[in-house]
Amino acid sequence: MSDTTQSFENFKLNKQLLEAVKEAGYQTPTPIQEKAIPIVLAGHDLLGIAQTGTGKTAAYLLPALFKLKYAQGTHPRGLILAPTRELVMQIAEEAIKFGRYTDLRIVSLYGGIGPKTQIESIQNGVDLIIATPGRFMDLYKRGEIFPRDIKTMVLDEADKMLDMGFLPQIRAILEVIPVKKQNLLFSATFSEKVEMLSSEFLEFPERVEIAPQASTADTVSQVYYLVPNIKTKINLLAYLLKDERMQRLIVFTRSRKNAEAIFKFLERTESEEIRVIHANKGQNTRINAMDQFKQGKVRILVATDVASRGLDITDVSHVVNFDVPLIYEDYVHRIGRTGRAHSKGEAITFVNPAEVYHFDHIQKIIRMQVPMVDIPLEVPSTKTPFEEQQGYEREIDEQKKKENPDFKGGFHEKKPKPKTKPIPKTNFSKGKRKAKKNRNQLKQKGKWKK
Ligand code: ADP
Ligand code: MG
Repeated sequence: MSDTTQSFENFKLNKQLLEAVKEAGYQTPTPIQEKAIPIVLAGHDLLGIAQTGTGKTAAYLLPALFKLKYAQGTHPRGLILAPTRELVMQIAEEAIKFGRYTDLRIVSLYGGIGPKTQIESIQNGVDLIIATPGRFMDLYKRGEIFPRDIKTMVLDEADKMLDMGFLPQIRAILEVIPVKKQNLLFSATFSEKVEMLSSEFLEFPERVEIAPQASTADTVSQVYYLVPNIKTKINLLAYLLKDERMQRLIVFTRSRKNAEAIFKFLERTESEEIRVIHANKGQNTRINAMDQFKQGKVRILVATDVASRGLDITDVSHVVNFDVPLIYEDYVHRIGRTGRAHSKGEAITFVNPAEVYHFDHIQKIIRMQVPMVDIPLEVPSTKTPFEEQQGYEREIDEQKKKENPDFKGGFHEKKPKPKTKPIPKTNFSKGKRKAKKNRNQLKQKGKWKK
């Protein structure tokens, strides 16, 4: 990044857009905007990689809106795809904000509600569609969308779309849209899958990468606790919530079930209002929860990864990872909710015995050691129930099998296994008993001996 104060005025945008940018309070472009906007304006395909919260939306919206200029015809000329309805709504909100001094007709399409109003909006004429892949395809199949005029197409949050299994739908959409158009792909992370998609979707793209892959914002301090079981995780959470510095926090879980369980628990035990968002919640409930959290009316939001991906929630003081995400990049996304806009944030991760393995992988991805903090003595520690313990052991066993090359070799080899096993690093191959003494537990320095 250079020190020269770039300004939005330097881009070849028009007055209408610049005025709206000013009103949005944007003074200087973010690095991804600075690099991407001229490239998109010049008509190139673009692959843009920058972590969550770096301003990717405006990086493609401003030049896209500039190209669309004003309302024309009835059929869409621009299409933006995003993985969830929340994201679609958020992008649409930005687009409407930036487009307020134009007459561009912006329509968002997403599931969870009936299509009637959406169809009506399309029929009234539309310039830019912002949609989830599913709803776009639904309405296309019903003959409601005529995509032949589409000249600019954006895949936002491409990594998440792929994680969510949207590839077939994206391909189906590409089949029905003119090949000759400008294509833009944005993603917070760059994985093999994203690379593959970009080679299918983009033609001689310019590439803009801002943060190194999966890097975590350096305004976030991270710690983790080793926690023996769910009950103790809950006790620890309840303890941490008493900290006054926890002004606005998101508690992340990897499943709806956990989100719901934590929410129920907190609702019972805390004297304040709590909100929860996950995919099973009705659309309005989710929107209301988000609004109240954003406006500071509630301090605690419990959320799953899917429901919260890419949501623009700023000024979060803390992120608590109640469990370790199994899609490792989600860790980066989760902690990207805090430490934005130069305010210091804290990310706290609860790691159970079977999650040590996953958290190790995450630390490799973010290329840093996250410091461990001891559970305060005030936190009641409970004995791990037999079944839960068994569950962890089974998982650890699986992990060991995955890591153990002997196991793999044995699996594929035709020859019978040699009777004498290789000597080193074979704690694993001696079955469950020995597996218990695995590296992970050693790491815990006898923390959960029971
Ligand atoms: P990303 O898509 O990369 O996760 P967003 O586009 O959602 O990031 O932007 C994150 C936040 O930063 C939003 O609140 C957005 O309004 C704000 N923002 C984006 N660009 C700028 C800018 N140039 N100046 C000030 N705020 C900005
Ligand atoms: Mg985004």
